[in-house]
Amino acid sequence: MRILIIEDEAALADALSQILQKNKYMTDVCYDGQKGLDCALSGIYDLIILDIMLPKINGFDVLRCVRINKITTPVLLLTAKDEIADKVNGLDFGADDYMTKPFNTEELLARIRSLCRRGNGAFYEPVISFCDISLNTSTYEIICSGNSLKLGLKEFNLMELFIKNGTSVLSKEQLIDRVWGYDSDAEYNNVEVYISFLRKKLSHLKSAVTIKTVRGVGYCLSSGD
Ligand code: CA
Repeated sequence: MRILIIEDEAALADALSQILQKNKYMTDVCYDGQKGLDCALSGIYDLIILDIMLPKINGFDVLRCVRINKITTPVLLLTAKDEIADKVNGLDFGADDYMTKPFNTEELLARIRSLCRRGNGAFYEPVISFCDISLNTSTYEIICSGNSLKLGLKEFNLMELFIKNGTSVLSKEQLIDRVWGYDSDAEYNNVEVYISFLRKKLSHLKSAVTIKTVRGVGYCLSSGD
């Protein structure tokens, strides 16, 4: 799960990012509306946390532009203002939920979990499966016929993406955007290294599932038949 935080109070944005990372979300932070909008339009996020009063482009305009561009990522508005008019505006422009600063961390996390469950239905499932493997998204374990192995964070994020995409091919660019982040310096080589870790773990578990290389395109899961 990758969350985009668009918030110009750097201390708040960074604290929020740390809290979310501690709770196993991947995060990207933008400190102004323009940068935030660019990132949001990439469509790679599972949730956007959006401030309203922002430099360059305000949160309402970011939200409107995101929805005009048919990006359906759930948006949680975060704002210092608590006037009714702002809440109505935000919801009318296509926000999914609303929190007033200062906020309680536990409540924010609960709302994020709820938005994720509602948002796309597919992306909050405690256990997801493909062929003979299951991935426990709470414990980060990969399980095959009763045997399990712990995955590192990047391995887990990659495996989760593969399982959710079934046998569809994912390009190295897509994997870098979704797992390392839109702005990261990760290179193809990083992807290759983690794919090789995952292949070793799949083979250690004697799974029928393999990660197939589709030359010049990317990778996909194969059920071995
Ligand atoms: Ca602000």
